[in-house]
Amino acid sequence: MKSNKIEVVTEEAVQRAKTAIAGLKNLNCAEDDLFFQAMEEVLLSIIPLYLSDPKYKKNSIIRRLIHPDRVIKFKVEWMDDNNEIQVNMGYRVQFNNTLGPYKGGLRFHPSVNEGVLKFLGFEQILKNALTGLPIGGAKGGSDFDPKGKSDFEVMKFCSAFMRELHKYIGPRIDVPAGDIGVGAREIGYLFGEYKKITSSFDGVLTGKPFFFGGSRMRPEATGYGVVYFTEKMLELEQKEPLNGKICVVSGAGNVALHVIEKLYQLGAIPVTCSDSGGTIHDPRGVDIALLKELKEVQRVSLEEYIVQHPEARYIPVAEYPKDGHAVWHIPCYAAFPCATQNELTQGDAKALIQNGCMCVAEGANMPSRSEAIDLFIENKICFAPAKAANAGGVATSAFEMSQNAGMIRWTFEEVDQKLKETMVYICTEVANTAKEFSADGNYVVGANIAGFKRVADAMIAEGI
Ligand code: NDP
Repeated sequence: MKSNKIEVVTEEAVQRAKTAIAGLKNLNCAEDDLFFQAMEEVLLSIIPLYLSDPKYKKNSIIRRLIHPDRVIKFKVEWMDDNNEIQVNMGYRVQFNNTLGPYKGGLRFHPSVNEGVLKFLGFEQILKNALTGLPIGGAKGGSDFDPKGKSDFEVMKFCSAFMRELHKYIGPRIDVPAGDIGVGAREIGYLFGEYKKITSSFDGVLTGKPFFFGGSRMRPEATGYGVVYFTEKMLELEQKEPLNGKICVVSGAGNVALHVIEKLYQLGAIPVTCSDSGGTIHDPRGVDIALLKELKEVQRVSLEEYIVQHPEARYIPVAEYPKDGHAVWHIPCYAAFPCATQNELTQGDAKALIQNGCMCVAEGANMPSRSEAIDLFIENKICFAPAKAANAGGVATSAFEMSQNAGMIRWTFEEVDQKLKETMVYICTEVANTAKEFSADGNYVVGANIAGFKRVADAMIAEGI
């Protein structure tokens, strides 16, 4: 591939761009640290594109892209099992609908606030653009914690949340899905309430259970997609495939479980998983059936794993390396962070590299800190950034929207085939874009430029 655009980028131009990006922190849309971290990573890597074509500056694309279209914020009042009234905050950040209806998950977790959702919504714009499907970017959620709540309490919270949210969503307007703390149970309750309020059986949420409009394979899609992406990246970078290789995975939720499952299907050996209390290291390979039972059925701590497998090791958070995470200190060929943001530090990245890790693929959103990513790139580790590697979930959500709109059903095999094709397409596009901009093998640059260009060009075409 010809690489002709980077020549216009001088060191001085890069410094000027960095100063301009730092200045954006003063905008009231960008004061939150997580959002700024996500935005800075994108803006630094699109410098070659931005400087190569004056139309982006002329059309003020950066300022237009980093301001969400709107941030909806509301109170959620609900009654717990002791008949006491509880109050939480609900949010929907509708970031950008240039390419299609707003699309992005709902997160229920005590750490949720406007800044977290702005970072996730911003990432979602570029991720959704990378899929090549007609979906815009959004994110939403609440500081409600489903952990420790009865099914009835979760149902009452979801109903109260939807009583407000339904005013702002619709199958052609904004189609939320799941994320941390929002799985099939929560989506079911949310969908039920939407239907009651509107009397309309719409494809207004994705990740629905199959028997009322969900797509086959949506639960598996994000995790399986991460592994499909990784396989393709290893092939393109002429590295050994995953078969027979030791892999480490963090998290024990939807994404982690399905990464582990697909790794087994490819003959790899995933030896770890983790939750917010600690890490399991099972050198023979994690017992996936037990993991699903503990996390999907019983919803208990991972510590329970060693009751059935005393030969495995449970490492509580208190015993983690200082400023790090136990998972990344276990020798492996490939690492898959699949829990949450900023869970992989610079020290963790050093440990992975020293222990011979060749590949890191992000299942969670922005799990690696910027300094960790810099180390991976410097050391030529195959690094798959979240917005490309975990786009299989939202792509399959878009497949669910298509099936709902056409009142049709695709088989598991049909969806799996489409998912595979999508991940191979994204990986190839990202690799080619990186090459085009003289950053061969740098999937961060490739993903950010390819995603940004698609949205920015469409914004220019649509006008203000
Ligand atoms: P789940 O709620 O199913 O699982 C999250 C897992 O991460 C749990 O094991 C949880 O442990 C752990 N976790 C969450 N927060 C923390 C924390 N602060 N510290 C340590 N562990 C934590 O979520 P998902 O698997 O759906 O999502 C995981 C990541 O993947 C998120 O970053 C999400 O945004 C991203 N993602 C998800 C998609 C999807 O389709 N589900 C699509 C694309 C990205 P515990 O149960 O103890 O809290």
